Amino acid sequence: MSSDKPQKPETIAAQGLGWIDPETHAVAPVVHASSTYLRDADNRYRSGRMYARADNPAYDQPEAVLAALEKGEDAMLFASGMAAAPAVFLALASGDHVVAPKVMYWAFRHWLADFAKVWGLAVDFVDMTDLAALKLAMRPDRTRLVWIETPANPLWEIADIAAAAEIAHAAGARLAVDSTVATPVFTRPVELGADLVMHSATKYLNGHSDLVAGALVTRVKDEHWERIAAIRTRIGGVLGSFEAWLLLRGMRTLFPRVRTAAANADTLAHKLAANPHVSCVLYPGLPEFPGHAVATRKMTGGCGGMISIRVKGGEQSAVATAAQVEIWKRATSLGGVESLIEHRASVEGADTPCPPDLLRLSVGIEDAGDLLADLERALAIAHG
Ligand code: PLP
Repeated sequence: MSSDKPQKPETIAAQGLGWIDPETHAVAPVVHASSTYLRDADNRYRSGRMYARADNPAYDQPEAVLAALEKGEDAMLFASGMAAAPAVFLALASGDHVVAPKVMYWAFRHWLADFAKVWGLAVDFVDMTDLAALKLAMRPDRTRLVWIETPANPLWEIADIAAAAEIAHAAGARLAVDSTVATPVFTRPVELGADLVMHSATKYLNGHSDLVAGALVTRVKDEHWERIAAIRTRIGGVLGSFEAWLLLRGMRTLFPRVRTAAANADTLAHKLAANPHVSCVLYPGLPEFPGHAVATRKMTGGCGGMISIRVKGGEQSAVATAAQVEIWKRATSLGGVESLIEHRASVEGADTPCPPDLLRLSVGIEDAGDLLADLERALAIAHG
C-alpha cells in the first residue's frame, strides 16, 4: 500500500527515506567501497557511474535525506565542513564581493580573511544582527553572496534569515546559511528564503563525534550549484564511503538526539543564569538574550543545544572551572551525544570576538541533573 501523503521529517530521518537495497532487500544500506565502475563493452557507462570521486553511490541516500529535511532540490557531501563552505565562494568569480558575519566559526572567518581575498574576492564582515549594517554593506551589481551563521559560534548571535534573504536578493546576491547549530530540526533556511545551506556534518547531523564531514544543500540546481559540484570533483575534497554510511546512520536519530540536547541546554541555561559564579549566559532561549525574539519567531520548537557562559573572575576562573569537570569532557567540537566544554578564546586566537572569560558548552543527551551538578561543583571549586 502506498500513499502520497508527504512524510514528516521525523519519518524521513528515522527511515533514511525508507530506501531498501534492491538486490538484497536490506533495510540498512550496504557500504559502497568501490572507487571505480565497469565500463560496458560498447564503451558506454550505462550505470551512470565511472569513478567514485565524481559519482559515489554511498552519497546518494544521505544526500537525498538531507535535501528532503532541508527542503532543497539537491545536497552534496564533502570531506568536512571546511571543504564545503569554501566551495560556495570558490564557485564565484574573481572580483566578486561577498558579505560575511563578524561572529562566525573562527576557522572559516580566517579562511575568508586570508584565502578568499587572495582568490580575488572582496570580503566585508558585518554585524549580522544589524540589518541596516547588512543593507549598507551590499554593493549592487557586485555583491554575489551573503553568508550568515545562526546561531553564530560561539556567542550564539541570531540572524534573521528571511530579512537577510530579502536584502541579499534585492542586491542580486545569493544567501547562504551555516545551519550547523540550528540543524533542520529547528530551522529550515530554504523555507525562509535562503539559497544555500551549509552544515559541518561532523556535528549534529552525525552526532557521535566519530567522523568529519560537511554538506551543502541548494534551493535550486542552478549554474552556481553546478560549479560547486565541479569544484568538489576537481579539487577532490570528497568524503569516504564508510564516513557517508556512518553519517546516514547518525542522521536517522537526528530528531530525538537534537531535541534531547536542546531540552537539556534550556534547563541548564536557566539554572546557570542564577549561578553566583556566572556573570552571563549566552543562549537564544533566554528571554533576556538579544536574539531571543527572532529565535522564537524563526526557530521551531527549540533553540539548539549550544550555550556559552561567562565566568566571574575572568579567564583564569574560566580555565580553572573547565579543569574541574568530570562528566563534561574538555574538548573542541560540538553536537555529539556527549557534553563538551571548551575555553573558546584559547582556540580562536588574538582577533576573536570571543571574551576571555567564556566557556562554550556543547550540551549532550546525558541526564541534565548530572550535567548541572558537575558544572556547579566545578564553578564552586574554581571560585575557592
Ligand atoms: N561551521 C561551524 C558552525 C562549525 O562549528 C565548524 C566546526 O567546528 C565548521 C563550520 C567547520 O566544520 P568541520 O570541522 O567539519 O570542517
